[in-house]
Amino acid sequence: MSHPLAVAEAALLEERRPLTRPEVDAIAALSLDELPDLIALAHKVRLAYCGPEVELESLINAKSGACPEDCAFCSQSVRYATDVDVYAFLDLDEVLEAAHATKAVGATQFCIVVAVRGPEERLLRKVIDAVHAVHDQTGLEVACSLGILTPEQATRLADAGVRRYNHNLEACREVFPQICTTHTYDDRVETARIAMDAGMELCCGGIIGMGETLSQRIDFAFELAALAPCEVPLNLLDPRPGTPLEDQGVLSPREALQAIALFRLILPGTWLRLAGGRERVLGELQAMGLVAGANGLIVGNYLTTTGRSPDDDKAMLDALGMPVAEGPGEGRFVVDGTGAHARPAQAPKRSIPVTSR
Ligand code: SF4
Repeated sequence: MSHPLAVAEAALLEERRPLTRPEVDAIAALSLDELPDLIALAHKVRLAYCGPEVELESLINAKSGACPEDCAFCSQSVRYATDVDVYAFLDLDEVLEAAHATKAVGATQFCIVVAVRGPEERLLRKVIDAVHAVHDQTGLEVACSLGILTPEQATRLADAGVRRYNHNLEACREVFPQICTTHTYDDRVETARIAMDAGMELCCGGIIGMGETLSQRIDFAFELAALAPCEVPLNLLDPRPGTPLEDQGVLSPREALQAIALFRLILPGTWLRLAGGRERVLGELQAMGLVAGANGLIVGNYLTTTGRSPDDDKAMLDALGMPVAEGPGEGRFVVDGTGAHARPAQAPKRSIPVTSR
């Protein structure tokens, strides 16, 4: 019987077909001693489907805290006693300052994130005004993450030129009810579809390390693949004090790298972006995340946690010989129907306007 990694290599690189669930389960059953071989395959698949470029994106947490929802990982929920900053939608000047900073570090995409269940009319108008101003002043591509949308709201965002909409599933269907009770997994799937139907690219991912099993992590990747997202942001849980998950242990670096590689095999043509938690979980092995199949980074700070310097990330990419993508990927990597952004575990301080998911 052929080795599971040989089967996967033939399927993805010769037959150019998606892996089946049993094929992925066979790979997941391998000892972590075989992780270098899994990583090597994930890197080959990433290069074959996506090329060597790495897409950089910065976030702004444009409205922080006081969210009525109860996502268990999130320090922005009004239900938990956390030290997150709470503020209404930032002034346009602050948004523009962050957009200019995004451009200055070489990122091509700027994501406006707000902590809400979904946008009310006044907020939506402010976001749309900000989208126009960022386009006019910086030329950056703009993404938004505004929670649950109606079709009419999605159409207005698309008409304003929002290229990509982030709405994470956060976890697989089976785990989601343990993570959130104020809205459903199907609510999230519906908004993901509404965003795509309106003509925006879908950015849809989540958080791993919230207590799910390896099998549930694989479920999650297949559920994301079924939505054929352009981008999957992969957050690694960095437990936030005061949230229900504050005592959840963090993944080991090897578990995280295994997950990144498996996501690449299941979503071969997707922008797979390392988001919140990479510094804490991967530590010295961050560069390995980009060799294990990831081809996108959030640069700067995350929504509620501080990231490392963008210059350090650019030096890492230089050392790896991976060029920065000059523009978003047009969904060009999505092939064979395979092809999803987790809201970060937390929001930026007002004094640090650029943040990451
Ligand atoms: S993840 Fe989003 S919807 Fe959930 S509590 Fe945090 S800000 Fe609100």
